[in-house]
Amino acid sequence: MSRLKIALLASECYPFAKVGGLADVVGGLGRALHAAGHEVVVILPRYAAIDGARFQLEPFLSPLGVWMGNTQEWCAVQRATHNGPPTYFIEHEHYFGRPGLYHDPEFYDYQDNVRRFGFFSRAALQLCRDIGFAPDILHAHDWQTALSPAYLKIWHWDDEYLGGAASVLTIHNLAHQGRYSADEYGYLGLQWVNFTSDKFEEFGGINMLKGGIYYADLVTTVSPTYANETRTPIGADGFAPYLARRGADYIGIVNGVDYDQWNPALDRYLPHHFTPQRMAGKAQIKAALQERMQLEPDPNVPLIGVVSRFVDQKGLDLLAGSIEAIVSDMRVQFALLGAGEKGLEWYFGPLPGRYPGRIGSYIGYHEELAHWIVAGADFFLMPSYFEPCGLNQIYALKYGTLPIVRATGGLDDTVQQYDETTGSGTGFKFWQATQRAVYDVVGWAVSTYYDRPQHMHKLMASAMAQDFSWTSQAEVYVEAYQRALANKRSLG
Ligand code: ADP
Repeated sequence: MSRLKIALLASECYPFAKVGGLADVVGGLGRALHAAGHEVVVILPRYAAIDGARFQLEPFLSPLGVWMGNTQEWCAVQRATHNGPPTYFIEHEHYFGRPGLYHDPEFYDYQDNVRRFGFFSRAALQLCRDIGFAPDILHAHDWQTALSPAYLKIWHWDDEYLGGAASVLTIHNLAHQGRYSADEYGYLGLQWVNFTSDKFEEFGGINMLKGGIYYADLVTTVSPTYANETRTPIGADGFAPYLARRGADYIGIVNGVDYDQWNPALDRYLPHHFTPQRMAGKAQIKAALQERMQLEPDPNVPLIGVVSRFVDQKGLDLLAGSIEAIVSDMRVQFALLGAGEKGLEWYFGPLPGRYPGRIGSYIGYHEELAHWIVAGADFFLMPSYFEPCGLNQIYALKYGTLPIVRATGGLDDTVQQYDETTGSGTGFKFWQATQRAVYDVVGWAVSTYYDRPQHMHKLMASAMAQDFSWTSQAEVYVEAYQRALANKRSLG
């Protein structure tokens, strides 16, 4: 395998700046590619929220001139050589010297996000030129950097440094597309001839992700099933025609996970540890979790965990509509952790008071409790309406906590259906997004727990043997990069 030069452009990267899973993917992928011997640079905005002292950021380059529309804007560049690939930070006080990454403390999006990330996308390319880094691959993520494949094709196709680069755009969630007023198009400097409905124009405004999908040499998303679902009108947020048009150049690659953070043998949040060969620690954590969440201390009752943001996508209304029937009809316990929509918080928060000993809940964000639930529960429920990839079910597998999931997106790709005749599989899947289906699938899992303990052991062993480490997933990305290079089209 040849060594590739790869520029990763993103609005988040762990450990520097994180809002969601995007940061983990960019950080994990970058480190894995670097460790595999590829020459990787990561380029991020220099947000005020990044702790410069902690990461030993150093001034690297100043000034850097970036053409936006008809004017040249100036910024500076800082660099960190943290253990991993070198990371560059585009420093622009007006755009990034603010408390949040995308929104103010009241959760109002910054009105000029289109300019902030348009500028960043162009500046990142200029940085590659100024430091003489000629990437083979420019890998952009989500709408925030989706303009960089377009800048590459429109302005740098014959460039000494950038002309050889192929671009890959990864979509982490189609629900976020970067839609703005056409008034901003001039600033972006993408030429009015490209303001057409197949590229950037949508209902008279700008759609940044749509433009990126047109210009990237390869478009990826974070699971094969989500790629298939979003090719069809259902679940594509209006994007089905643009994604379908990319044909075989739109593919799904499941995210890797960081097994240093999520590993039952090492987990720093856990009071006890376990491995597939020595499972006693799991029972001890279950007992500790039952005590912590005021559940009946019974090792022989199945315990179902839920850890989730309370947002529509996650399907928790389906659980809200079935959980009372479940705990009334079945001998089972729930440990719930989450926060978000007030209606769900108000419902799940007081529920333990009505079903003492059978339901425990904690409303809020609690990292340690999340690890306890993933480790101590017997099953992990995710009834999502859609899920581009999902990480929690992948973590749960490693802890022998069997996922119960709706077969959508990455949930479908990472969980293998239990086969009652052989005991093969790694979890329990259901298809219909209904309360009844949640009730039924939980009933299936609970009956397996009581009636087929030998299958439970087999399922747990298979689950724990699954490998979604970045080392293997980064190899899949390298194959995608090779494909993007083969695809490289010259669009002006
Ligand atoms: P998403 O990124 O859509 O929220 P994922 O399953 O991909 O869903 O990742 C969710 C991550 O966030 C997991 O690591 C999960 O443990 C964590 N998480 C979600 N809600 C909470 C919470 N209330 N407390 C602690 N961790 C949480």
